[in-house]
Amino acid sequence: MISFIFWLIILSGTLLVLAYKSVELKIVTIILWSILVAYSISSDAVIIYKSLLWLLFLGLASLNIPEIRRNYISSRILKIYKSILPKISATEKEAINAGNVWWDGELFTGEPNWDVLRKNPRPNLSAEEKAFLEGPCNDLCEMIDEWTVAHKDYDLPTEVYDFVKQKGFFSMIIPKEYGGLDFSPLGVAMVMSKIGSRSPTLSAMVGVPNSLGPAELLMHYGTDQQKETLLPKLATGELVPCFALTGPYAGSDATSIPDTGIICKGEFEGKEIIGVKLNFNKRYITLAPIATLIGLAFKLYDPDQLIGETKDYGITCALLPKETPGMETGRRHLPIGIPFQNGTITGTDVFIPLDYIIGGAEQAGGGWKMLTECLSAGRAISLPSGAMCGAKSAVAVTGPYARVREQFGMPIAEFEGILEPLGRIAGRAFIINSSLTTTAMAIGTGEKPSVISAIMKYHTTELARKISIDAMDIHGGKGVMLGPKNYLAAGYESAPIGITVEGANIMTRSLIIFGQGAFRCHPYVLKEIQAVEEEDLDESLDQFDQHFFDHIGYTLSNASRSFVRGITNRFTDSPVLDETENYYKEINRFSAAFALLTDVSMLVLGGTLKRKETISARLGDVLSSLYLASTSLKYYEDLGDKEADLPLVHWTQKTLLHEAQENMHETLMNFPNKIVAILLRCLIFPMGRNVSQPSIEETLTIGKLISRKTKTRDNLIMQGVYLKDEPTNHYAQMNKALELYEICYPLKKELIKSKKKGLISGNTFNELTENALQQGIISENQSDQLAEYAAIADEIINVDDFSQKEIDQIR
Ligand SMILES: Cc1cc2nc3c(=O)[nH]c(=O)nc-3n(C[C@H](O)[C@H](O)[C@H](O)COP(=O)(O)OP(=O)(O)OC[C@H]3O[C@@H](n4cnc5c(N)ncnc54)[C@H](O)[C@@H]3O)c2cc1C
Repeated sequence: MISFIFWLIILSGTLLVLAYKSVELKIVTIILWSILVAYSISSDAVIIYKSLLWLLFLGLASLNIPEIRRNYISSRILKIYKSILPKISATEKEAINAGNVWWDGELFTGEPNWDVLRKNPRPNLSAEEKAFLEGPCNDLCEMIDEWTVAHKDYDLPTEVYDFVKQKGFFSMIIPKEYGGLDFSPLGVAMVMSKIGSRSPTLSAMVGVPNSLGPAELLMHYGTDQQKETLLPKLATGELVPCFALTGPYAGSDATSIPDTGIICKGEFEGKEIIGVKLNFNKRYITLAPIATLIGLAFKLYDPDQLIGETKDYGITCALLPKETPGMETGRRHLPIGIPFQNGTITGTDVFIPLDYIIGGAEQAGGGWKMLTECLSAGRAISLPSGAMCGAKSAVAVTGPYARVREQFGMPIAEFEGILEPLGRIAGRAFIINSSLTTTAMAIGTGEKPSVISAIMKYHTTELARKISIDAMDIHGGKGVMLGPKNYLAAGYESAPIGITVEGANIMTRSLIIFGQGAFRCHPYVLKEIQAVEEEDLDESLDQFDQHFFDHIGYTLSNASRSFVRGITNRFTDSPVLDETENYYKEINRFSAAFALLTDVSMLVLGGTLKRKETISARLGDVLSSLYLASTSLKYYEDLGDKEADLPLVHWTQKTLLHEAQENMHETLMNFPNKIVAILLRCLIFPMGRNVSQPSIEETLTIGKLISRKTKTRDNLIMQGVYLKDEPTNHYAQMNKALELYEICYPLKKELIKSKKKGLISGNTFNELTENALQQGIISENQSDQLAEYAAIADEIINVDDFSQKEIDQIR
């Protein structure tokens, strides 16, 4: 018996190693055969145990014979697969197939190839983009008074619109050949973030033409004629675009739009032609009230088969000039906090020629594909840029405010209760900045990662919302009272906008990230589905057999990797050998655990996983945490200041890896099959949940770093915030206050000490300063600096007050 247990341990250990290394079945068979022969000829091998092991071995070895596998195993499993595989509609398929897979695919493998991420180019702006950020972008910021825009005029001044069009802010993604600026995704993100730090109202409007608007659709799908006539006009701002998909009865489920286009004969510019009669009712459309080129999505039907055999084409996109008869625009919604141009578009029996369809009649029915394909790049840039702007702005103002504001005889930044939320702001801002920068560079090289775009959209807007809440709490009453001096309220109030648009967040988390990721990024699921759907039965079985057995090997490998790495990370490699080495290894570990959990969840829950949103949301969160953690490491490797940014890296890695761990734990807690959950727990957490979140001390440290004049703070806000030193810029004022604080706080302490010693007297700070100057305790220069600091601190601490008459005049 002892000998049998010994050999069983040898066999299990060997299997664990072979699975860990993903060794081919043939080689596994030979190695196991050798061990069994050795066991069989050992003197104390008991016949019954020997037979049992040989029987198991023969079962495994038979899998090497394709006929046995196909006829007795794969064919039966194929039948089961057909019954449990979730039904995927044509539109879901288009969404799943949209875009491509990048680093997200590696995270699904359990053994990510870090080269894929590391060969992403280092973040870099072109000379032209840098000049634009320092030139037109600063000039534009200086022109805008956001208080007047948001509380008096509910609009931007005409000269701002003119400047925006003239300088190309609406055409940053249009190629140079059509007159656009042709900026990189990182360039667009930085411009949007910077103007957003001055005017979130304007930034929301600039987002549309530079993401999923008519220009993007035209560039990819337009006919040559459409491109040549429309793109140059969009580049100069002669045409202002919008894109209308949403209506009162189709929000998150945009495929359910009731708006119709019927192909029929009608009169256009005095001639009878075949065209489309449209009836539609759209709402929430950004730029609609001022747009002159309206992008429209509708369902196209051809009941009389005037253009082909098809009667029901499906979602189609067209571009309509504003003055098209029967279409009404102009009515506005007022988005919360930032009243950018947004409104309704309606149309009754609007007749348009076929060549208004983007791509012409050939693209009839191609609308959903267009939208899902183009959404990925825009969604990963435009909304995350808004989030980055909110995050960087909060860092730029909140640290200095917490220094300048004193209570109980000291700056509130000296209290741990304040430093903790400050630390969270710093860490979260670093996550947004680093993930957006890395993702933008990937998109710049031609990647169109649809799952990553959903991760970026969801997580950056959620993080920005949390940041704005912490920033408000630290500011106390200063954040609550409205007026020109309140620089926080607009970001706080408008946070739900980013949460809602381009895929509302609850749906994005519950349905899209994992729902799409499991199909799109998983190395075998899509291939298996394609094999199941193959009409030729022999071909179907052939393909299924191959992918299914590869899939089993992959799952076993991940089970082994997850278990071994859960005990020790010694056998996994990190591409770097520095303070961050362990984080890479931890990501490798969780990648294997996530891949295993995904496979088993899909196996156990089958089609019902789609409805079990609480499970798929958490699985999506694990993937997201791994993505955000790895892109932060990549950013640190590329641009990070090895000293100043390291505390931020430690905080973000610990936070994200801990979140990944806790989401796997919660998934297992709520797993419908408890026995499977226990087995999975043993494989995923063999040593328990041993990844800790950052210590309180680490959070306080980074909080302190952004409340002082440090490189850490400078690095975080260096780009993407309007920092020009001019009198109306509160960021410049905050920077100045922080600089003076570093000089004046020690002086202030000196004055208080001198007062305690009886060397000077005075009730107010000014009196103390004057006396100290007279006594020679401080120099004239120091006295001036103290006076300057007192004035600037006064300005920062003050809030607005109004007479009733002034309030009446506001609106
Ligand atoms: C300021 C603003 C600007 C916009 N600009 C444009 C534009 O330019 N063009 C355009 O076409 N549209 C635009 N939209 C529309 C926007 O894309 C939609 O608001 C969004 O798709 C959500 O639709 P809804 O608001 O109707 O919410 P609903 O669809 O009613 O959703 C309500 C809630 O249910 C959740 N939910 C829905 N389905 C699921 C599910 N399966 N699982 C879990 N939760 C779910 C959502 O996450 C949300 O929390 C804009 C919206 C806003 C607010």
